[in-house]
Amino acid sequence: MNAAPHIGFAYELVLADVIARYHRGLKEETFFLTGADEHGDKIARASKKEGLAPQDFVDRNAILFQALIKKLRISNDLFIRTSDKKHHWLGAMNLWSEIEKAGDIYRGKYEGFYCVGCEAFITEKELVDGKCPTHNTAPESIKEENYFFKLSKYAPELKSILQSGKLKIIPESKINEMIALIDAGLDDVSISRPEGAIPWGIPVPNDSSQLMYVWCDALSNYISALGYGRVDDENFKKFWPADVQVIGKDIVRFHSILWPAFLLSAKIPLPKELLVHGFVISGGKKMSKSLGNVLDPNEFIDAYGGDALRYYFSREVSTTEDWDLTREKFKETYNANLANGLGNLVSRTLKMAEQYWGGKVSGDASSVPPIRTRITETETLRDLGGFNIPYLVTNNIFPRYHEHMRANEINRGGDVVWELISYLDQFIADYEPFKLVKTDKTLAEKTVWGILYGLQAVSEMITPMMPSTAEKMDILLGPKVKVDSKGDFTFSVTVPKEPLFMRKQ
Ligand SMILES: [Zn+2]
Repeated sequence: MNAAPHIGFAYELVLADVIARYHRGLKEETFFLTGADEHGDKIARASKKEGLAPQDFVDRNAILFQALIKKLRISNDLFIRTSDKKHHWLGAMNLWSEIEKAGDIYRGKYEGFYCVGCEAFITEKELVDGKCPTHNTAPESIKEENYFFKLSKYAPELKSILQSGKLKIIPESKINEMIALIDAGLDDVSISRPEGAIPWGIPVPNDSSQLMYVWCDALSNYISALGYGRVDDENFKKFWPADVQVIGKDIVRFHSILWPAFLLSAKIPLPKELLVHGFVISGGKKMSKSLGNVLDPNEFIDAYGGDALRYYFSREVSTTEDWDLTREKFKETYNANLANGLGNLVSRTLKMAEQYWGGKVSGDASSVPPIRTRITETETLRDLGGFNIPYLVTNNIFPRYHEHMRANEINRGGDVVWELISYLDQFIADYEPFKLVKTDKTLAEKTVWGILYGLQAVSEMITPMMPSTAEKMDILLGPKVKVDSKGDFTFSVTVPKEPLFMRKQ
């Protein structure tokens, strides 16, 4: 919240949104939370620079985040702000009190380094050439009286929950990294700062001379948002523990060590999974203001539409790895996969349906040709020789798509969708229904009906990824009229007035 939303945050929002929409589509009850961590030194300093009070500063930036959420059609149930006294503070303070009751908080003197960028105390052995390796800045020396949390006490239990998979981390490589940190020894951590040191935060219960350390405050948002610590805690009872928490790779340590330790202390169940995504780079370089390669998500949304950016995030970004984005690369993949790919396929097919059958195309889903459901590494869908697209969709495409989506491998789910799209393109090239219609109109209708059936499956699968495009496709593909008991039906389609995706020069 110390600046306008970055393209990396747009990515994180879309990733979480695709997961939430996918599960909602399966009729699973879903609660999707996002929000903003608004306290801490970093925010206080950034607001001072602009001559604003911290609250006014975060209120102003919150509008930018909300606008982005709306533009991208993010379906979050709640946007929690940690400066929200009514919805967040009580939960955060309640968590503190529970930890205190467990005997895990004591007063002590802290003397050491603090990195404002990390909002974290940093030890001498973590420094590289005297600087924080993440921010490349020298930390500040601090000497103050704070409250400490007995993190060291939880080291064995934390190790066992990570080893046993009780708290799953994707990618798994992070588990070993975290276990190595635990094995190197966990010190107790300072979880408050004197009020004078950070003028902006939640007071420690029963000691207003101290404010909660920002991570202690921020992490509790996951439960405060659900009503933890309040009378109206139905959502907390219903939805906690979280099935998945989607985070960036720079904050794994806080989420897989500090956060579970707080919960263990307060006897609150742990989230089930941490999905850790990578960082965005641009043209091979980390985005930074000084390099002038910072990309604003709004630029892409305004030029290409929200679904185009959602497509990029859902298909072109490998969830757990760092990813690259440049304007050139974006345009190239947009033209190839949306304008020429999906958009062109939809236009061509609907035009054929209109031209030869007046928009009403009947088909037969019951004949099952001898196709195999599994394909080997080197085979393509085309090698299966499947003429029966319903059979192919049901037995090959859908199972693989759902396998990836259930595992939160969103880009691999996206790959399956585009595999079907290129198969349908190939199908037109192989059977040439536009020629076939002159010699065998019935067979030509079967092929076009098959492609329409495939497009309907595409629309269903892209619903979590590109909701607006899926809605448009559903309207174009029209209501399906059942013609007999075998499940055969007639499409009644409309030709779009303009392409789904305009080609960009
Ligand atoms: Zn740092």
